[in-house]
Amino acid sequence: MQKTQRSTEEWLLISISLLGALSILPFALLRLLRGDWQVAALDCFAVLAMLAIFFQVYLSGRTVFMSQVFVGLCQFVLVMTVVMRGAEQLFWFYPAALVAFFLLRPWLALAIVGLSILVLGSLLWTQIPVLHLFGFALSSLATMGFAFIFAWRTQEQQARLLRLATKDPLTGAGNRRALEEKLLDAVHHHQRIPLPMSLILLDLDNFKHFNDSYGHDEGDRILVAVTDIIQRRIRRSDNLYRFGGEEFVVITDNTALREASLLAEELRSDIATAQLSGCQVTISLGIAQYQDGETGYQWLGRADKAMYRAKHSGRNHLCISGLHEDQLALTDR
Ligand code: GH3
Ligand code: MG
Ligand code: MG
Repeated sequence: MQKTQRSTEEWLLISISLLGALSILPFALLRLLRGDWQVAALDCFAVLAMLAIFFQVYLSGRTVFMSQVFVGLCQFVLVMTVVMRGAEQLFWFYPAALVAFFLLRPWLALAIVGLSILVLGSLLWTQIPVLHLFGFALSSLATMGFAFIFAWRTQEQQARLLRLATKDPLTGAGNRRALEEKLLDAVHHHQRIPLPMSLILLDLDNFKHFNDSYGHDEGDRILVAVTDIIQRRIRRSDNLYRFGGEEFVVITDNTALREASLLAEELRSDIATAQLSGCQVTISLGIAQYQDGETGYQWLGRADKAMYRAKHSGRNHLCISGLHEDQLALTDR
């Protein structure tokens, strides 16, 4: 497992904030040289604020809030420039509108850019000929419409790609790739904020035999039904992954071993009593709480070993890594 790389959003905001600062910087210098102090102050403020956003995103990786700040800053500087210098500065509207659609959700960008058109229109209402105003209104609305359609389509495609890349197509649980990402994230997060977190590995018992007796399609339906049972039982903040053919992993944040063991027991009992396809389907489970310094794979490996102990104890059983069952006051049947 490698260290998580920068996300596309981070790269986008880092590039746009740097580009924005570099494209305003020559204007700021020119106005300082000319002694145009008021506009120079606004330009310098814009350059410094954009550089601050650049470093903040570069160092912290926070993109959602910083994107909103960046778009707000662009719109503020745009309106102030038009207030100070008049309609000749209107061309800045177009890059500012595109930035909003690049960085924000399409509807939020639409609202902000629409508002910006209204504010600019009302500022210039008495200053420029009606024909020019009409031209600005049409071109800005067209830019907003095209950008919205493009951003909307891109968002849909990204959501679809994300689903394809991270979800198991049969059950809708996270896939192995998503599990690996989560293990990395969880370990990094734990290094910063060391709250307890636990992992439950569960494996269907004698599933090969079930497939042989009832057929592969019926086996698939069981996998979907088991996923539904688990999803209904776990919290929204817990994460479910299909690790292999008939193996699943639940990662529970902010959960110590005892709570995780109680959840595991509920899962075992829910599935054993569900009578799926008219049969009793059972699972064996291994539970491990994260220990300081171990990797995600080591954590998973301990849960796997515990799960194999549960198999050897006769299946339909749960075992806890680092504990023998008699050390935990928990009945498993
Ligand atoms: P144990 O109790 O030791 O886990 O026995 P098992 O039979 O469940 O274990 P084994 O690993 O031998 O078999 C796993 C079976 O899971 C083999 C395969 O037919 C089945 N399987 C894996 N993926 C799928 C799937 O996507 N759909 C179906 N229907 N079956 C699957
Ligand atoms: Mg199995
Ligand atoms: Mg298995």
